[in-house]
Amino acid sequence: MIALTHVNYYDFKTYAEDQYIIFEDKIIEVGPMTDFVNQDYEVIEGMDQLVMPGLINGHHHIYSTFARGLILPFDPENFQEILDQLWWKLDGSQDLDNVYYSGIVSGVEGVKNGITTIIDHHASGLDIKGSLETLKKAICDEVGQRGIFCFECSDRFDIDACIEENLSFAKKYQTTKTAGLFGLHAAMSLSEESLTKISKVIEDIPIHIHIAESHMDEDLSLERYGERIIHRLERHQLLKEKSLLVHCLYIDEDEAELIAKYKCTVALNVTSNMNNGVGLPDYNLFKRAGIPVIIGNDGIGSGIMPEWLNLNFTMHHRDLTPVKFGLGQVLEMVNQTYVYASSILGCKLGRIQPGYEADLLMIPYIPPTPMNKNNAFGHLCFGLANNFNPSYVWCGGKMILNHYKVKENLMDTYREASKSARQLWDRI
Ligand SMILES: [Zn+2]
Repeated sequence: MIALTHVNYYDFKTYAEDQYIIFEDKIIEVGPMTDFVNQDYEVIEGMDQLVMPGLINGHHHIYSTFARGLILPFDPENFQEILDQLWWKLDGSQDLDNVYYSGIVSGVEGVKNGITTIIDHHASGLDIKGSLETLKKAICDEVGQRGIFCFECSDRFDIDACIEENLSFAKKYQTTKTAGLFGLHAAMSLSEESLTKISKVIEDIPIHIHIAESHMDEDLSLERYGERIIHRLERHQLLKEKSLLVHCLYIDEDEAELIAKYKCTVALNVTSNMNNGVGLPDYNLFKRAGIPVIIGNDGIGSGIMPEWLNLNFTMHHRDLTPVKFGLGQVLEMVNQTYVYASSILGCKLGRIQPGYEADLLMIPYIPPTPMNKNNAFGHLCFGLANNFNPSYVWCGGKMILNHYKVKENLMDTYREASKSARQLWDRI
């Protein structure tokens, strides 16, 4: 059993100073140092350090790891051309070797950013079969994080192979460490025939899909099928409970009501939206409809905290006032991200309380101004977010970052990644 001593902790609800935390795979006991009795614990002294729950990336694309530094002819006029000229070239040319090394790089960098759970949306055109198993090997078995994986079904791939990869993985893994969703790229890249095929075999597996990331997705749906995206998915009975609908920038009130009715969750990724120049989400629409909203980074970098800040800034910019939306709403979404991941993995994430999984990070932080439960999230966003380097990270009680370092054999693999990226770039 491990005991962290003299730590301050913040779990997005409670802030307490000079505490101890005892854990194995789960948190066993938490209390003030005045009550601490050492019973042969492995003691890690945490004076001047803040302990928090490990962070979650609510929508990630590990395959985008090898986009770093890639220069391609790029002159898109719209979102489809951004996909055609960059992302679909990158993911379409990936094989299992690329998938594995992307997983190691993204996982290691995620751990260094305090990430302990990743919800990934994957595509690799050269090797569909076995790709989710490969991600699981890299992320869950070797790096030691929790992972929720799926393959983006799309008509540009062998659709039967995509379906089989989702089904076999989701049925095989339903543990607190690893689970599957049913991945769909987006409505605009899936024909009626493909959606019908998926609908026949999906049973109750929640879907993970991009929705209205640009207005083109809705425009094409109306033009081709005479209905909006969410209505089309409803007609195919694909709005399964706990489905993860990503972006939703251009949905209307009716669609928002349907999303709430079917108990789906929306994932926002505003940095990516700004990068693609596609617009920003209407948070109040989700709020009015009562839709749970979580936060992802859409594969931009390996941390999630910059996303919290950007969400705050972009909503101020969109509303043209800093008072309609604030850190309180961001905090609500951070908490919702834990609720969502917990519900998919079947475990308790996101609090520092007995019975919760011991997914913890520790980071040096001496508050230079008074800190309490009401302003702790502000300390995170404006004091820690731009330089967020945890000293230790545990996932399920296992130490996956030790004094700023992952295991040396992981770094050996990391050092080989560039070779795999080179091969991928040569193929594109
Ligand atoms: Zn995405």
